[in-house]
Amino acid sequence: MDSIKKKCENCLSMNKRGVAHYTHNAAVMSTIGNDPNIALDFEMYRAKTNEDEKDEGEFTAALRLLNRVVHEHPSLIDIVVYDALACNLVFIKECQKLGIDAIVRVKKTNNISLKEVKRATNKTDSVLKFIEDGYVIEVYESFFYMNDMEEPIRYIKYAKEKKDSDETKRTQMLIITTCMDMKLETLYRIIKARWDIENKTFNNLKNNAHLSHCFIHGGNAVEGILYLLFIASNIFQLFKIRRLRNSNKNQKELARLLVKGMYTLKRRKEIIFNSA
Ligand SMILES: [Zn+2]
Repeated sequence: MDSIKKKCENCLSMNKRGVAHYTHNAAVMSTIGNDPNIALDFEMYRAKTNEDEKDEGEFTAALRLLNRVVHEHPSLIDIVVYDALACNLVFIKECQKLGIDAIVRVKKTNNISLKEVKRATNKTDSVLKFIEDGYVIEVYESFFYMNDMEEPIRYIKYAKEKKDSDETKRTQMLIITTCMDMKLETLYRIIKARWDIENKTFNNLKNNAHLSHCFIHGGNAVEGILYLLFIASNIFQLFKIRRLRNSNKNQKELARLLVKGMYTLKRRKEIIFNSA
């Protein structure tokens, strides 16, 4: 949500080539895995209150969101999955405090205990080999203590290899997790499903629900509009996936058919809209 003209006291500001851009950003929590992927809640980044401060970043807003959702909906969440932004002690401790498990991507890290376990794990033998999506995946696993933590956590490396006609593609995926007993294949599927948030949920919200446009500034209007967008999008997803199982039409086309159906309904009461 970006504007160079409209703004309010809650706007975050960013300087792009000398021009001030005003935005409202939010951290969003959504379900992953099997459809439908429902957006559960969001938390706005707080803007700086004076020039000496900085606007709040994603991680701080995300922690507040996690706390709120866990307290407002006890026992709704048992595992939270996050990208490498949350690969730190603060996040792991927060999850333990809230009584939920964490699965977090590992990328480049400055954490010394994590660096050590990375190096040590590279020298071990693989503990499991499985095949998924055409990849042969070798799994390496270690348990370690992150900084001053009293309980160990798991570090896992998935080394992936795929043979295309003439070349071999190799990638790897690293995670840490507090899920001590979960199967390695399951953890892999969960972290992979996290990409769905970008690919499905947010793509859909941006392309079909105007999420990237800031309609209004000031007061609680931004939050109000966001709640409306998320509620409408969630209900639509549920309708599409649970009622129209075999439909391959996209959301825009379905919305058009619904509007058309409602228009027809006005004229001929015996026709309830065609479920396409
Ligand atoms: Zn604003």
